[in-house]
Amino acid sequence: MLGEFELIAKYFQRPARRAALGVGDDCALLDVAPGQRLAISSDMLVEGRHFLSTVAPERLGHKALAVNLSDLAACGAEPLGFTLALALPRADEPFIAGLAQGLFALAEAADIELVGGDTTAGPLNLCITVFGQVPPDQALLRSGARPGHDVWVSGQLGDARLALEVFRGRCSLPGSEFERVRQAMELPQPRLALGLALRGVATSAIDISDGLLGDLGHVMQQSGVGATLHLDALPRSAILQAQPEALQRECLLAGGDDYELLFTAPPSRREAVLEAGRQAGVAVTRCGTVDAGDARVVLDAAGRPLPARPRGFDHFRA
Ligand code: ADP
Ligand code: MG
Repeated sequence: MLGEFELIAKYFQRPARRAALGVGDDCALLDVAPGQRLAISSDMLVEGRHFLSTVAPERLGHKALAVNLSDLAACGAEPLGFTLALALPRADEPFIAGLAQGLFALAEAADIELVGGDTTAGPLNLCITVFGQVPPDQALLRSGARPGHDVWVSGQLGDARLALEVFRGRCSLPGSEFERVRQAMELPQPRLALGLALRGVATSAIDISDGLLGDLGHVMQQSGVGATLHLDALPRSAILQAQPEALQRECLLAGGDDYELLFTAPPSRREAVLEAGRQAGVAVTRCGTVDAGDARVVLDAAGRPLPARPRGFDHFRA
């Protein structure tokens, strides 16, 4: 039976590349470039709450890191390193090997390294903390939206929620379509390149983890503004587009688990936003405007306001 330290050495200890000191001592040591600020974020994934027990371990490893990298992206931060705190019911080697594979594949793609963590026996739970760096005046914050700015989103919204509804038995999809939306749910792509390209262009940003309306609400609150969204303009897959109107709305507006960026920019920077999207290789879509006041309005295709929509996801109120 694999012990704690053998498990760490076998699956999680790799030679440090960028870190001054990686796994194996009491602390990791990271260099931050002169004049930059450290950007830090933690996200925890709990079985049954954030993922289903049916998820492949490779995908779980990917997602645990992806949701954290998404926070760095939303701040316009460049990844430096991350720690992994892991509770495992048992030292199930095929499971741990799969988890490590998915985790390191994304870590390499995102040029970030695992520098430490903690491992304990317990109900399956993964908590990652990411460290990044960003010049102080270029960090993308939730608080910078101003009336008259455009509202933008990256990628497509709603597929992850659609997959969840299939798992819940609320709708069904042909196998190939199910696999596509399931990938949106289990293999989200953090928009790091876009976050970097939006430095100096976007006035505010947030990643969409709890649903578009809820996350837009955070930007509105922290910026002291309102917003109008055009439902028709929200980017969606052909698979979601083929679903009943009410389900589409719910997936787009209150879905969650999208890990796309929601951001604002002045109309004078439209070309710069499109260029940032091209540089990052991700679609960016203008879908609303920032308003004075504090109202959140969603307009349907005919320009009529929809009735108040459900709020974003809240673990203690859902
Ligand atoms: P300490 O008791 O000082 O907290 P540990 O004995 O728990 O240290 O861990 C030994 C080393 O292994 C430390 O460098 C720690 O950061 C690292 N580590 C523990 N678990 C993990 C993990 N899941 N992934 C990466 N590094 C880990
Ligand atoms: Mg320890």
